Amino acid sequence: MDKNFFEYAPAPESRALVSIKAQYGLFINGAWVEPKTKDKFATINPANEEVLSKISQASDSDVDRAVKAARAAYLKTWSKMPAKERGKYLFRIARIMQERAREFAVLETLDNGKPIRESRDVDVPLAAAHFFYHAGWADKLDYAGLGINPKPHGVVGQIIPWNFPLLMLAWKIAPALATGNTVVLKPAETTPLTALLFAEVCQQAELPAGVVNIITGDGATGAALVNHPGVDKIAFTGSTEVGKLIARSIAISGKNATLELGGKAANIVFEDAPIDEAVEGIVNGIFFNQGHVCCAGSRLIVQENIYDDLLAKLKRRMSLIRVGDPLDKNTDLGAINSAAQLAKIKELSASGDTEGAFRWSPDCQLPSKGFWFAPTIFTGVTQSHRIAREEIFGPVLSVLTFRTPQEAIEKANNTPYGLSAGIWSEKGSRILWASKALKAGVIWANTFNKFDPASPFGGYKESGWGREGGRHGLAPYLKGAK
Ligand code: ADP
Repeated sequence: MDKNFFEYAPAPESRALVSIKAQYGLFINGAWVEPKTKDKFATINPANEEVLSKISQASDSDVDRAVKAARAAYLKTWSKMPAKERGKYLFRIARIMQERAREFAVLETLDNGKPIRESRDVDVPLAAAHFFYHAGWADKLDYAGLGINPKPHGVVGQIIPWNFPLLMLAWKIAPALATGNTVVLKPAETTPLTALLFAEVCQQAELPAGVVNIITGDGATGAALVNHPGVDKIAFTGSTEVGKLIARSIAISGKNATLELGGKAANIVFEDAPIDEAVEGIVNGIFFNQGHVCCAGSRLIVQENIYDDLLAKLKRRMSLIRVGDPLDKNTDLGAINSAAQLAKIKELSASGDTEGAFRWSPDCQLPSKGFWFAPTIFTGVTQSHRIAREEIFGPVLSVLTFRTPQEAIEKANNTPYGLSAGIWSEKGSRILWASKALKAGVIWANTFNKFDPASPFGGYKESGWGREGGRHGLAPYLKGAK
């Protein structure tokens, strides 16, 4: 039979759903303003390197303007408003995000490179769900078990990464507003467009001016926000390296911080696991969002006696992954977010080759323009290999084996990180035993990468401080709450 018999015809989502401005200013005090220095940088589509727009580089004085606007809004409006009214704004934002969901999804895919199927079915609905969930908390904080009449910090500085631009914005802004804080948020320099569209949503929702301010720029803008004396609390998601810098720079400043950093999650498959389901979970765990996921299941730890069977099935499944145009509704694996990230993935993968692991990828045609990396596995990986220890943040899976359950746990915990883990087994008692023994903030059993606004998320060790989501995620936004 013709090899292409089962090929899908292209099914591109319409790009006409979005209108991208040639350039953007900063969103400060409810209005668009030009940055003081007039500096702009390009944001591109990583799938074809097309320039999408020119983005403002906020300077120290722009950060200062934004923080002052957030302070004024906090003092004059937001802290005086009854909690129930605050909640109404959050509901309104959530509904507008749902109404404009397709626009958000296309824009996210263009700016980030992730498949439209993921931005449409995961990122955007979950972002709206975060606003709905926190809208409900706004007038019930007295009943959250976080103290009587808990008080907000005031002005919160929030810095987010490029892997889930809109979703991370929602994880940050929704709890901050629900607990009565005002916000200055900086999106990542490679993915600012959905945050700028969110600024329009704030205007559409008639959110009082200055309650949410969106400033764009690189790490220097982020550092200026962290160090601004008018910021009471920092919420950061990004690399462990920058997280450590932030922790150092706010030491003894009295600023409270939540840091959601890197990970190197173990996905452990026991001999009694349902193999076909496990294979789906492994694929989802590492190839979802091109592996640009801090909780990605990037270390597969398989019991030795099922290794051959599992690996054959995994390779067959990987051969079906469709890599290509992120706007195509059939695409499974999109573009790598930036040239810099692609270089990092290539460098770490090359270390896998030189350190003696075996690389395998299915046959796949990568587009000639843009940033691409084929889905890849490394077998014969040992714990000392860099690809077993360092976060690759790409579609690359390191496979290790174990003989006894105790060995699996030791290997899984042998990492400076502790964000997430996966367990595949049909035995409930084994799942409970393993989940107690694993040092990770989030543990999935017989599934992977499941998220819900009601469920707290966060890590141990170098994966960061604090929790986001659920009742636990409210605490860092309230003074003295634990
Ligand atoms: P990645 O390595 O995944 O790109 P980063 O930690 O470098 O992640 O970036 C995450 C976010 O942190 C981005 O918005 C980036 O601009 C910002 N950032 C980078 N350096 C600093 C810094 N020194 N202080 C504050 N924010 C920073």
